Amino acid sequence: MKYFDYAATTPPHPDVIRTMAEIMETQFGNPSSIHGYGERADQLLRRARSGCAAAIGVKPEEIVFTSGATESNNLAIKGAALRYQSRGRHIITTATEHASVYESVMQLQQWGWNVTLVPVNSDGVVNAQQVVDAIRPDTVLVSLMHVNNETGAIHPIAEIGKQLKKKAPRVLFHVDGVQGFGKMEATPAAWGADLYSLSAHKIRGPKGAGLLYVRSGVELTPLLSGGSQEQGLRAGTENVALLVGMAKAMRMAAEDQVDFARRTTVLRDRLMETIRAIPEFELNSRPEGAPHIVHFSYPGMKAEVALHTLEQLGVTISTQSACSSRSAEPSRALLAMGRDAACAVGGLRISLGDEHTEEDVALLEQALHQMVAQLRPLERR
Ligand code: PMP
Repeated sequence: MKYFDYAATTPPHPDVIRTMAEIMETQFGNPSSIHGYGERADQLLRRARSGCAAAIGVKPEEIVFTSGATESNNLAIKGAALRYQSRGRHIITTATEHASVYESVMQLQQWGWNVTLVPVNSDGVVNAQQVVDAIRPDTVLVSLMHVNNETGAIHPIAEIGKQLKKKAPRVLFHVDGVQGFGKMEATPAAWGADLYSLSAHKIRGPKGAGLLYVRSGVELTPLLSGGSQEQGLRAGTENVALLVGMAKAMRMAAEDQVDFARRTTVLRDRLMETIRAIPEFELNSRPEGAPHIVHFSYPGMKAEVALHTLEQLGVTISTQSACSSRSAEPSRALLAMGRDAACAVGGLRISLGDEHTEEDVALLEQALHQMVAQLRPLERR
């Protein structure tokens, strides 16, 4: 079986597993304890924090460790909204954001905040000017993803950050960087981002570890009450082994980023060509998008039927995003891009990883052709 669902999660790298296992076996101390066990754990945590910070070009004290990007996004959005509500209660985002951003914003809307969903174009990309034009005197936060997890569409984050700093410097800018880090340049401070979320398991690190970059000077209302860990922003004993594993995975991903993009772009372009040549399919990703994601629709076919047929043929891909693939709803992102319901329900995603080769892609292409040949009699047009 060949796995092509790296945007959902990646196999932890053997070196990361080894490092984490060693820490779990030998360094179980609580980093908040003041005895030797605690101090040794604290030292490891400090080193992990410096490593993560260096990988995205920020200061170690600007890193808040979390359990993953879902938590980072919740903390960034609700934490900023609650902390700065005296400035106003208006938030700007798009309809194509990950559920952990979209649902956080929708919850705030239920609590009385106002929300503007800036439209995306048919490629899923937001227009920088339209984001800036949506700013009101009571706007406190703009939250956008760097790379879309379903289609690979890239928002012009650097341009938006620049314009926001110029025209509305008091408005906070949060970027969900999960699908961009390790795939393209990730420099949240240079973009003008105030808050930036990452998850370790998308870059061959462990599940259950993530971070939120909080620019110096930005304050948040914590969502968890408890101890004073993570500068009081995230109570709870840190999982040192996982966080050291994340730091290692981030360093490896940052070092490999340029090469990763070069390798996967070749494979992605080849896959795009194959998909374009199959008349049953509609390609939803664009060459301008992320190097590791190819999204296409098979209108008239249930995506899960296509997925299971492909699995029988030896390849694993994804329907929508893993977080939403158990819901029968059409993809919110594809609908926002103007696709019809048939297209949005029949969405399939291939996502590539650092280990994929031309031979793997050839196997996948063969399976796609075989799948269409098998399912053609069942198509409903
Ligand atoms: N944002 C994006 C863009 C994602 O792709 C994901 C993972 N599907 C998340 C946030 C949430 O990350 P996690 O599952 O690690 O909480």
